[in-house]
Amino acid sequence: ESTESLNFIEHIIEEDLANGFPQEKLRFRFPPEPNGYLHIGHAASICLNFGLGEKYEAPVNLRFDDTNPSKEEQEYVDAIKRDIAWLGFKWANECYASDYFQQLYDWALQMIKDDKAYVDHQTSEQIAAQKGTPTSPGTASPFRNRPIAESLDLFNRMKNGEFPAGSYVLRAKVDMASPNMHMRDPIMYRIINAHHHRTGDKWCIYPMYDWAHGESDYVEQVSHSLCTLEFRAHRELYDWYLDQIYDPSLLRPKQREFARRNLSYTVMSKRKLLELVQKNIVSGWDDPRMPTISGLRRRGYTPTSIRKFSDLAGIAKRDNVTDVSLLEFCIREDLNQTATRVMAVLNPVKLVITNYPEGQTEILHLENNPEEANSGSHEVPFSRELYIEQEDFKEDGGKNFFRLSLGNEVRLKSAYIIKGESVVKDAAGNILEIHVTYDPDSRSGSGTEASERKVKGTLHWVSIAHAITAEVREYDRLFLDEAPDAHEEKSFMEFINPNSLNVIKKAYLEPFLANATMDSKYQFQRLGYFTLDPDSKNGHLVFNKTVGLKDTWAK
Ligand code: ATP
Ligand code: MG
Ligand code: MG
Repeated sequence: ESTESLNFIEHIIEEDLANGFPQEKLRFRFPPEPNGYLHIGHAASICLNFGLGEKYEAPVNLRFDDTNPSKEEQEYVDAIKRDIAWLGFKWANECYASDYFQQLYDWALQMIKDDKAYVDHQTSEQIAAQKGTPTSPGTASPFRNRPIAESLDLFNRMKNGEFPAGSYVLRAKVDMASPNMHMRDPIMYRIINAHHHRTGDKWCIYPMYDWAHGESDYVEQVSHSLCTLEFRAHRELYDWYLDQIYDPSLLRPKQREFARRNLSYTVMSKRKLLELVQKNIVSGWDDPRMPTISGLRRRGYTPTSIRKFSDLAGIAKRDNVTDVSLLEFCIREDLNQTATRVMAVLNPVKLVITNYPEGQTEILHLENNPEEANSGSHEVPFSRELYIEQEDFKEDGGKNFFRLSLGNEVRLKSAYIIKGESVVKDAAGNILEIHVTYDPDSRSGSGTEASERKVKGTLHWVSIAHAITAEVREYDRLFLDEAPDAHEEKSFMEFINPNSLNVIKKAYLEPFLANATMDSKYQFQRLGYFTLDPDSKNGHLVFNKTVGLKDTWAK
């Protein structure tokens, strides 16, 4: 493989291999905190880590970073597993940082004994005030040099639940003058009195991210611990913690950073997504407007499209924003290859073919997928009275209107050529019926001269007597602003699009769709791609619009 196509993380690994790192020791992990559902940004990290696993035939652990019981829940663990599996990746081991609580505690005890950690008895405000600034050193805590035996005793009592939350913390004894603020005696443990979804009430002290993360990588013997750029400044601490506990006969993990995936017209942080859920701006984490994996799935996105998107958007060294139209391009491409073509009318107007026999039904055939050679066709009933879209008819269309108008011909998809003759209106002037005549020799595929005749436009339609009905939900961007959370004076909540959901209560579909299944994808001809929503119940179908046929956003 040429090195051109490698991303910069792969370059780092290739270099390590070239320097003698044994390939069989490569090991990766994806480390979500179970405090929310996965989003399209996580997909970047999932595709990166599991992609490396596939490429180098290396194990990839799924590690839940479950060190803050006040925000974490089993529901999130389950959702995360479901989403990764749906994307098509397999983890080697299901791990939990909480499985290492005892080991971490033992290491912390050792660090106290080595005079590398101490128990502080100050408020978080006091500790923050002593941190100093990047250009001036911090002030040592008055407890920094308390006797080792005293710290050991207090830490033990912290663990035993003798103290209230916030009263004591364990701090690493690093360097209060370090130019790296993360090195100024970072907190290793704090007291949290909350029920943990796995360890229950066993622990009331919980390790901080920096202390837990690198050590978990070490326990699992992860070779390359990949995280996002904001952790660049944490790397020194990651290495310092490893220095305290590291056994040179074992593999020493290293942290490397890549740019977060950001997407235009949405927010990605779980805290903000949770706010949308809690304030009922959306129906849940899997609302089809959410940038979550579960929301995208419900919207009709496929694993292929999300993996393709991650691939095209790439792994960057610097922060950037990916245009959401790239994501839409990826699903449109995939569905164009795979979706079954059907006909549905969302805003109906009645059309009567006056020279077609009353009471007659003809079975026509609609090609399932012109992009796929062996996809076959399905039956679609045709009769005298049809629905077409209101916007496909104008009494007087003028030169540039290529749909149906009076005196002009169009083709009905996979059926006949019709000609607009007259309209029936109510007293207010609304069109009730469009009357047309058809050319009986023009049936599509019949091989006659008339069937080959070119007309200006082709319309989709459904037979009124045979149509089934459904609710159809169309979506627009959830936010009106390209970067809703990039405004200093305004919250992202101020940019919510009030019209992001449009519900069509009664759309008319060809009867073939009565057998639609949850994982089937459809192209409603000329309208876009649609998929069944789990809200569908017997006798009440609900379809979500995944994406339109073209990128209409730019207009
Ligand atoms: P959030 O702010 O959305 O809660 P997080 O980083 O706190 O994000 P984690 O559950 O800790 O969420 O993330 C698990 C892994 O996914 C981490 O390695 C993290 O770096 C990565 N990750 C999270 N968000 C993104 C993103 N937008 N782009 C790329 N990787 C991400
Ligand atoms: Mg995190
Ligand atoms: Mg987070």
